[in-house]
Amino acid sequence: MKTTSQEIILTGDRATGPLHLGHYVGSLKQRVELQHTHQQSILVADMQGLTDNGNTPQRVADNVLGVVADYLAVGIDPDKTTICLQSGLPALTELSQFYANLVTVSRLERNPTVKSEIASKAFGRSVPAGFLCYPISQAADITAFDATLVPVGDDQLPMLEQTNEIVRRVNTICQNEVLIECKPLLTQTPRLPATCGKGKMSKSMGNAITLGASPKEIRSAVKSMYTDPNHLKVDDPGTVEGNVVFTYLDAFHPDKAVVEQLKTHYQRGGLGDGTTKQILEECLQELLTPIREKREAYLSDKAQLMTILREGTLQARENSQTVLRRVKAGFGLSHF
Ligand code: ATP
Ligand code: MG
Repeated sequence: MKTTSQEIILTGDRATGPLHLGHYVGSLKQRVELQHTHQQSILVADMQGLTDNGNTPQRVADNVLGVVADYLAVGIDPDKTTICLQSGLPALTELSQFYANLVTVSRLERNPTVKSEIASKAFGRSVPAGFLCYPISQAADITAFDATLVPVGDDQLPMLEQTNEIVRRVNTICQNEVLIECKPLLTQTPRLPATCGKGKMSKSMGNAITLGASPKEIRSAVKSMYTDPNHLKVDDPGTVEGNVVFTYLDAFHPDKAVVEQLKTHYQRGGLGDGTTKQILEECLQELLTPIREKREAYLSDKAQLMTILREGTLQARENSQTVLRRVKAGFGLSHF
């Protein structure tokens, strides 16, 4: 495809569950726009999903096509964006193995995202080695596509930092620009909080409003949302900072001026949480209804989803092999 930008984009999602509203505002919406101007690939990260599901691979396998259906339902076009499967790209695993020798265990343990995920999953010293090393595999993913731009939520920034450290290390060793550094691309909502207000919305934490959520699920998730605990009576002045309903209105309401009016009214007093939640529910229902319907239609033809994924993977396989050959040659290891 002819593109207007020189930047190459890679993003991806772990196949650990259906995608959610955090993905929508954190990266999916942006990917839909970027595919018109950029060369873009999206990786369904099943191997990375296994790093904390090693004993339950079915959980990852079962979610692969659901993630592809999510992409198509929000408007990712497989003629413009390469959608590929991580486990179908052996060059990524080989690159990971090379990079693993250039990263220390203490550096991995210092990675703030890995550190907080190990704590929240209560792994302690029983953390799977693959999980501790997943920043290395992400570096392999990004570099294998020669990606220069990576649209991510802010939880992924430490991964990009670590990727660039590996890139510089490889280039220094090879005394040549074998790999390319990447930059993050953050949206206006780089971290959508969970509906309870604690932590980010995440597939693995069971706190997500998925793109396929039913009207009833959407209603009950909005009803239970964290607001201002001190806003007891409608007439009480309320706080909008940290109030999840307003964070979501900022992220999803189409009219910013209306949201500003609601905020002023809430802060002054006289606006009840029931009313703000109803406004939010309406805009989420409006956003998600067509996505849910398209998602269901795509999922009713699994063979078509598989074909899209296979074609994208075969295309990406060629490119990733080229990068692997470059790294091997740089290390003087390309004997045959
Ligand atoms: P898991 O719990 O399995 O890690 P996840 O919900 O964190 O799943 P990922 O597949 O790890 O989702 O993330 C894919 C992309 O979506 C990343 O770029 C990540 O930053 C972004 N993302 C995930 N959750 C959010 C969120 N709540 N807000 C904004 N972006 C998000
Ligand atoms: Mg995650």
